[in-house]
Amino acid sequence: MYALADCNNFYASCERVFEPHLARKPVVVLSNNDGCIIARSQEAKDIGFKMGDPIFKCRDLVKQHNVIVRSSNFSLYGDMSRRVMQTIRLFSPDVEIYSIDEAFIKLDGLIDRNFEDEMRRMRAAVLQWTGIPISIGIGKTKTLAKLANHYAKKTPEIGGVAQIPKNANEMLRAVEVGAIWGIGRQWSKKFRNIGVHTAFDLVQMEPAVIKKTFNIVAMKTVMELRGCTYYRLEQTPEQRKTLLRSRSFASPVTTWQEVSEAIASHATRAAEKLRNEELVASVLKVFFHTSLFNHRKPRHSAHATIELIPPTSTTHTIIKAALAAAYPIWKEGFEYKRAGVYLLELSKGQPQASLFESPEEKIRDKNIMSVLDAVNTNMGAGTLHFAATGFTKVMQMRQLQRSPRYTTHWDELPQVMS
Ligand SMILES: [Mg+2]
Repeated sequence: MYALADCNNFYASCERVFEPHLARKPVVVLSNNDGCIIARSQEAKDIGFKMGDPIFKCRDLVKQHNVIVRSSNFSLYGDMSRRVMQTIRLFSPDVEIYSIDEAFIKLDGLIDRNFEDEMRRMRAAVLQWTGIPISIGIGKTKTLAKLANHYAKKTPEIGGVAQIPKNANEMLRAVEVGAIWGIGRQWSKKFRNIGVHTAFDLVQMEPAVIKKTFNIVAMKTVMELRGCTYYRLEQTPEQRKTLLRSRSFASPVTTWQEVSEAIASHATRAAEKLRNEELVASVLKVFFHTSLFNHRKPRHSAHATIELIPPTSTTHTIIKAALAAAYPIWKEGFEYKRAGVYLLELSKGQPQASLFESPEEKIRDKNIMSVLDAVNTNMGAGTLHFAATGFTKVMQMRQLQRSPRYTTHWDELPQVMS
């Protein structure tokens, strides 16, 4: 048996934890640089805000309904996610973190065999300890747990937890085919064309026919809906093979100073992530380009790839390599919109000894990186940084309406009046 726990309107719920007066008010959260809507509270969904809507097109609606608009605050969301997952792990050791706000839980190891009661206790604990409301679906397979979770969300009167009953027909009829895990928008259109509208309709279909008309993935989905397990818990995430750090500039930039600082910042972030996952990179690609959509301005796209010998995760080595690769392809006279660093050929563990690096140098770099990471973890990202990442602040995001990073920054802790 599996459960799927999914936080309700996660980013909006995080905004509400430390600002309870936002409860029951419509809240939307914006993408980096305050561009588009990436999350909505239920109230905002009801008003009609859609994912991906550019916020400047919604001004009237925002005003009319007194909608709370927030810049994204990933320091807060990431930390709240960690707290939710930590609480879930107290209830079962078999947890697969599926996304920032979702986790699959294997239930077979639980002592209490009344899974629904136990999941209600877990839901209450998460709500009490973190302030985040979650919905939980329980079923014989991951696909059924997902379906029950969808049902729980759509049916608030059942209190946030739904289990697939012995006779599941009613629940299967209540879930439309497009809401089933693994059925995309394209497929749901195709299914509706052949008269399949709900999960119940889908289960009636012959798996062999589905395999022929769609493919084996669709067939597995149907088999899972019938209670046959095809997807198991994945607890050790596959090791990543590449790592990309890039972002659009808030406004176009024209100087090498600005572009080089952006590249150095992305190199810094990428190196941190590598060390965090105990990986080293062998190949580095650096790129920058003008807007891909503005056809009236002169366009230019530049990229260069170099080998890192020996493979490394040392910040200054990666910054140096990225800038050395980028400088020869730099061209004046363009308005650049985006820059980035792409690391490839990642591998685990200790890089091999190299002719090009003395053992003393290696130990020195390792020590510098541990100090750097310790300071930045304890005192906030970017407390210690390399001068190459700059002074022009070109990398600062436009985030005019970000809430405080309540749980990760000492100077932004919530204050309680006495
Ligand atoms: Mg969610």
